[in-house]
Amino acid sequence: MKKLKFLRSLRFRLFLLIAVIGIVPSVVLRVAILASYEGRAVSNRSIDVLSQAKLLGNQVVTYNYISDTSVEVINTQLEQLSNIYDGRILLVNPGFQIVKDTYGLDAGKTIISEEVVRSFRGEEITKYDSENRYIELAIPLKGAEEEEKSQGVMLVSVSTDGIMVNYDFLKDNALVIEIASAVLVLVAAFACANLLVLPFGKLTKSFEEVQASDDTGKLMVSDYTETEAISEAFNEMLGRLRVIDESRQEFVANVSHELKTPLTSMKVLADSLLGQEDVPAELYKEFMGDIAEEIERENKIINDLLSLVKLDKSSGSLNISVVNVNELLEVIMKRLRPIAEKQSIELVLESFRPVSAEVDEVKLSLALMNLVENAIKYNRKDGWVHVSLNADHKYFFVRVEDSGIGIPEESLEHIYERFFRVDKSHSREIKGTGLGLAITRNAILMHRGAIKAHSKEGEGTIFTVRIPLTYVG
Ligand code: ADP
Repeated sequence: MKKLKFLRSLRFRLFLLIAVIGIVPSVVLRVAILASYEGRAVSNRSIDVLSQAKLLGNQVVTYNYISDTSVEVINTQLEQLSNIYDGRILLVNPGFQIVKDTYGLDAGKTIISEEVVRSFRGEEITKYDSENRYIELAIPLKGAEEEEKSQGVMLVSVSTDGIMVNYDFLKDNALVIEIASAVLVLVAAFACANLLVLPFGKLTKSFEEVQASDDTGKLMVSDYTETEAISEAFNEMLGRLRVIDESRQEFVANVSHELKTPLTSMKVLADSLLGQEDVPAELYKEFMGDIAEEIERENKIINDLLSLVKLDKSSGSLNISVVNVNELLEVIMKRLRPIAEKQSIELVLESFRPVSAEVDEVKLSLALMNLVENAIKYNRKDGWVHVSLNADHKYFFVRVEDSGIGIPEESLEHIYERFFRVDKSHSREIKGTGLGLAITRNAILMHRGAIKAHSKEGEGTIFTVRIPLTYVG
């Protein structure tokens, strides 16, 4: 199988194609020309001999040679004609007797062949015997008058050996030329095939170079429109891979940074306590309180990361059951109400209809809770949060609207990225990891749902979630 691999190569197929196109017509041409040459040469020779023989025939009639074969002029001409064409001439009288044979063999003998009989009736016959290589002619000997009786018949047979010698010579020559041209065609086909597949080799080499190069390398082999299209497709794919790689690197860097920040704070707090002598108990208490807060933050980041990883891993393995979404939202509201009250934020749930849906209760609850939590966190004092639930025959919709600080337009497309936080300055006052919306979006996508955000800075934000009522795996 491996040995035959080259049969599938473009180079071999091009070579074969060019070779066939180059060689086949020349073979056809050679065979056709040789075949028509033989026919044409024989017919030319027949016409020649026939016209000469007819001239001589007229003279034979004029001199009444059949009755008297001693006429010297005719004898000389008969000899000449048979010598020129390397042939034999027989003259037959009406009694079917041979009166003259230029070979001098059959004079006096009787000949009754079909040709002779037909010729006596006035027919002119030309025959080519290709096997024995001679042309046979039968010419009636009679005067110009139509009704005149035939004085005899002239039989002429001429050898076509001369023609065949030419034919063989031509055949040999044509074969030599053809073999030479076939060799040239094969060489040209090989060179052309190599030349034509060159851009593909270039493409493969560029693939390797671009892969080995730094982040900026791009591929472009524009020799053919096809290689250009491949290059473009490759560049697009490479771009996507680079984005994935970059975001992975960024993610790892962010995770390390986020995990390190609370640790650094704790170390600073602990060191400052250890570096002082006779530290008052209140200061200890205060610093330990700060350290406990940092531990809490570290804990939150790790928990969020674990939720994300879990969501990524178990994509497709949702724990689906029929859940009362109204109740699910009520539980979320109950859990978050104390936080909202602390900032005197009004928290309202509006259910337009009872909704039961096939969802993963834990994951959906996590997703919706993040949204409501954000709406409270990024709010103003004495603000409000409205949560509403509605449904049609296919989907249920949850809308979380707040009167908060809003999200700048340029940040809207980034809010679902891991560790993204709109304004690093407010992130110091409002605690968060930047992972909440990434978790929410993942969970919603796993349910084949969709999430959209509308926001106006300083006025508030609306998140709308749409999830199918029945789960399709
Ligand atoms: P975080 O842990 O920071 O809340 P999220 O992923 O939940 O992380 O949110 C990402 C960022 O989007 C937040 O830091 C915040 O800047 C912005 N954001 C999210 N929800 C709201 C909202 N309801 N109003 C204003 N900004 C919001």
